[in-house]
Amino acid sequence: MRIEVESLNEQGRPFDQTYAAGDLPLDDEFARLVSDARIWGRAKRKRDEVQVRAQIQTSVELQCDRCLAPVGVPVNLEFAALFGQDDEPSAEAKELQGEELDFSVYEGDSIDLDEIVREQILLALPLRQLCRDDCKGLCMNCRADLNKLTCGCQHAEIDPRWAALKELKSSDE
Ligand SMILES: [Zn+2]
Ligand SMILES: [Zn+2]
Repeated sequence: MRIEVESLNEQGRPFDQTYAAGDLPLDDEFARLVSDARIWGRAKRKRDEVQVRAQIQTSVELQCDRCLAPVGVPVNLEFAALFGQDDEPSAEAKELQGEELDFSVYEGDSIDLDEIVREQILLALPLRQLCRDDCKGLCMNCRADLNKLTCGCQHAEIDPRWAALKELKSSDE
């Protein structure tokens, strides 16, 4: 989605746009959009600096950390970003928004929001995700999904790496 800088003024202009799930690849191996992504908010301009405040609503499919099953995660976020043509924001903008503002440089006469939308969605995702709190995961040995079946492997067996560590420890004593 592009916003024409010329069309903006200091009062701000509302926008509302929906990306079809397939139109916004997240470029992440483990996350993909599974519903439309709606972004709506306001964009205002002072000289060549543009401030965008918006909300994003969508849902993303992640993988369970233990059993790799797909897990749907709703995403609902708000963000503010500043775009300018110089390498850094003007002193005025810094003062208004503090040093922590999300600043990007744009070229030409329009601002492409796709990258920031993608970035904001990825930032909003949980670092760890389980399909359910007590997910049993996959068997380390035969990769069976232990939520669905019990395999014949010995799960009490200690991982050889831990066993070695244990030996080390006991020889210390
Ligand atoms: Zn799971
Ligand atoms: Zn097994």
